[in-house]
Amino acid sequence: MNTTDTIGGHLIAGEWSTDGPTAVSDNPARPDDPVGEYVLGDAATAASAVGAAAEALPGWRSTTFVARAAILERAAALLDAAREDLAVLCTLEEGKTIAESRGEAALAAETFRFHAGMAKISTERVFPSPTPGETIRTVRTPLGVVGIITPWNFPLQIPAWKIAPALASGNAVVWKPASNTPLLSVAIARILAEAGVPAGVLNLILGPGSTGAALVADPRVDGVSFTGSVPVGEAIRDTVTARNGRVQLELGGHNPAIVFEDADLDLAVPCLVAGAMGATGQKCTATRRIIAVGDIHDALLERMAEGVTALAVGDGMTDGIGIGPLVSTGAREEVAGALANAISQGASVVAAAADSPDEGCFFPPTLLSGDTSLSIAHDEVFGPISTILRVDSEDDAFSLANATEFGLSSSVFTNDLWRIDRAIHELESGIVKVNAPTTGSELHVPFGGEKSSSAHAPREQGDTAVDFFTRTRSAYIRPGTVR
Ligand code: NDP
Repeated sequence: MNTTDTIGGHLIAGEWSTDGPTAVSDNPARPDDPVGEYVLGDAATAASAVGAAAEALPGWRSTTFVARAAILERAAALLDAAREDLAVLCTLEEGKTIAESRGEAALAAETFRFHAGMAKISTERVFPSPTPGETIRTVRTPLGVVGIITPWNFPLQIPAWKIAPALASGNAVVWKPASNTPLLSVAIARILAEAGVPAGVLNLILGPGSTGAALVADPRVDGVSFTGSVPVGEAIRDTVTARNGRVQLELGGHNPAIVFEDADLDLAVPCLVAGAMGATGQKCTATRRIIAVGDIHDALLERMAEGVTALAVGDGMTDGIGIGPLVSTGAREEVAGALANAISQGASVVAAAADSPDEGCFFPPTLLSGDTSLSIAHDEVFGPISTILRVDSEDDAFSLANATEFGLSSSVFTNDLWRIDRAIHELESGIVKVNAPTTGSELHVPFGGEKSSSAHAPREQGDTAVDFFTRTRSAYIRPGTVR
């Protein structure tokens, strides 16, 4: 199996193509050692991929669920077999540590296995009828041709979350991955083709955001599932819903973790450090605000400072490294600019990782202390910066936690069952964690946000994933003869 193309190409109607201009796929840890090249598609590429998907759709939608599940199971086995190669490619292109990449590769395989199983569970329902002899059933039909647009921060897992249920439900897919991780996307598409996904059922198009915009604008695309930034997600929503298409968005977060006075800091601090700084803070569920309630503030600050200072930053391929670089120099500039701005607004730097290279895409995980007047206490900064904010009461903690346009994930650290119950019901986020990091989710459980974090669409993952990728049809069936 070839998981390491040096020039990544498009996969359209079962054919690989590297025709056209190319761009370099960089390694954020080693700027002088690019990973390879990839071809730059355009609107015509998107149109031809959508055409291939539309042509392949009738055959795939009439393939039995057993056959579709068998292909997904083979894909899971092949992803498992290629796990180390995929993990290395993920670290080279995205920068996260090899341990993080290995975990993600394993979960991608598991996601295909899960949806192979889900494909065998009937989603039909039967209803009683007031008409004698009549049966009423709901059946699911595939949504149709779906556009899948994925980001670079989970370049294995997020494509798996979307592509596996889309294929399991009988849809034909056009996938536009992020330009920071093109060769990894090619490797995944190669595996899916080898697993037996028929020509045209999965099409991969590489290229800049404008290629994705052309995909989204194509009226033959019935729905789009997108994870990425707020402005791009909102533009996609406007384009797709204007033609009554279906859209699923997973956008930003400004996730709070509330630490109450009764919290066990031995448990809370490692969760907070991992939640804020893991994957170099480039998770939509990362802990951006740490809300300390009352007198626990000073001890928490001290323990968090120790944890952040000790983080080892460096090339994710090196043993012992806990935090890799940011994904690009552009991302570094943005995060460094946000830190400078926070300091100019009065934030104090409590701690920064002591052992961090000061070059290229590297950025030291940084802990700030301040108040809600800071922009960084409201605006999402996609990097390893978290701010500790102090409040004096439980009511203030809950209202500060909810004082954001986002609502993806939140956590509380406490042993008080009343507070835990209140958190589950009152924190305005799609995920609420108790004595656990804001990050991390299980693939058999629905995932998604509230407020500006997600669209009002069925959740990804779990048994709700199929809801986005299918239409429900109600069938009224009466006997064909008079009795
Ligand atoms: P974008 O939203 O720009 O990119 C996400 C995906 O959308 C990529 O595949 C991108 O392609 C594609 N895309 C870009 N423009 C368009 C368009 N007009 N129409 C259709 N598709 C498009 O995010 P970035 O990667 O630029 O990251 C910027 C910020 O987004 C981050 O700093 C962070 O705040 C947020 N983000 C959030 C994520 C999350 O998990 N919710 C994940 C990643 C980023 P291409 O890569 O070629 O531009």
